[in-house]
Amino acid sequence: MKQLKDLLQDQKPIFSFEVFPAKTPEGHTKLLSTLKDLCALNPDFISCTYGAGGGSRDRTFEIVEHIQSQYQVPAMAHLTCISHTRVEIADIFADFKRRGISNVLALRGDPPKEDRVEVGGAEGFDYSSDLVAFIRQHFKDSVSIGVAGFPDKHLLAPSFDADAQFLKSKVDAGADFVITQLFFDNQKYFDYVDRLKHLGVTVPVIPGILPITNYGALVRFCERCGADIPQQVVDLFEPIQEDLDKTVELGIAFAVKQCRELLAGGAPGIHFYALNKVSPVDRILAQVRNQ
Ligand SMILES: Cc1cc2nc3c(=O)[nH]c(=O)nc-3n(C[C@H](O)[C@H](O)[C@H](O)COP(=O)(O)OP(=O)(O)OC[C@H]3O[C@@H](n4cnc5c(N)ncnc54)[C@H](O)[C@@H]3O)c2cc1C
Repeated sequence: MKQLKDLLQDQKPIFSFEVFPAKTPEGHTKLLSTLKDLCALNPDFISCTYGAGGGSRDRTFEIVEHIQSQYQVPAMAHLTCISHTRVEIADIFADFKRRGISNVLALRGDPPKEDRVEVGGAEGFDYSSDLVAFIRQHFKDSVSIGVAGFPDKHLLAPSFDADAQFLKSKVDAGADFVITQLFFDNQKYFDYVDRLKHLGVTVPVIPGILPITNYGALVRFCERCGADIPQQVVDLFEPIQEDLDKTVELGIAFAVKQCRELLAGGAPGIHFYALNKVSPVDRILAQVRNQ
């Protein structure tokens, strides 16, 4: 299956979706049907998240393998290192080889709330840059490595400049591309890319786009992940938050405008946070592809 670093070199712009493993058997069955419909939209790749706290971890790899074998669509496994030892990560990569997984989003993950503990130190990994270095050292060019970027700055980073420096350390360790956290102010993305270029970071930075479908849920999510909700979004969506149909329609129009501006400004593609649903990403993609 094609590695994403080659795809990013050959073809622009690229469009991708992100899904997450379902928590129940019924949810998993529904996800499999959603994946069929998402693959029918011919995405360049699909990624699947990984639970830093446990639970659905093996499901991530099953889903990635399923997308590739069933639909011949390249897929990427997210992988968090916060609770893993180096030995466990090496075992996971042996499993990847068996499953034909060669694209990984290397993350630290947030401190787990559940039963697993943070490892770190010599036995584990302190930051995602340590995981990237480990993968590159042991698995060389057999894997394409993506990392997370934060146009609004990571919640815990002391400053925008420090955040950019940490991103540079991930790329210096061997990352091939960046996928960003959701954001709504395109200028923040363009400023972020400029800050990185200034530091000599030139790998593709793919913007992550979340279509707004539920304003209340968005506010709660952004509080947790540190993404900023600009006043323009508050003014547009807060007054109509009780009307979900209206919110979805406005969310589509907002995302289409955001994607068109990003692509016109040189973004290498769009990574849609599909939230295990075909709509509204199908409608947004139809309007931004081939523009
Ligand atoms: C596209 C995308 C996909 C994601 N997918 C998942 C997923 O599947 N599962 C999941 O659990 N989470 C996921 N996350 C969330 C992510 O795990 C959290 O945002 C986490 O808090 C940071 O992960 P990271 O890989 O950026 O960590 P790191 O790069 O390790 O950064 C963590 C913090 O440490 C700081 N830092 C980095 N290097 C240093 C250093 N050398 N010295 C001091 N400070 C440093 C950073 O600024 C940041 O504040 C995703 C995020 C994004 C943007």
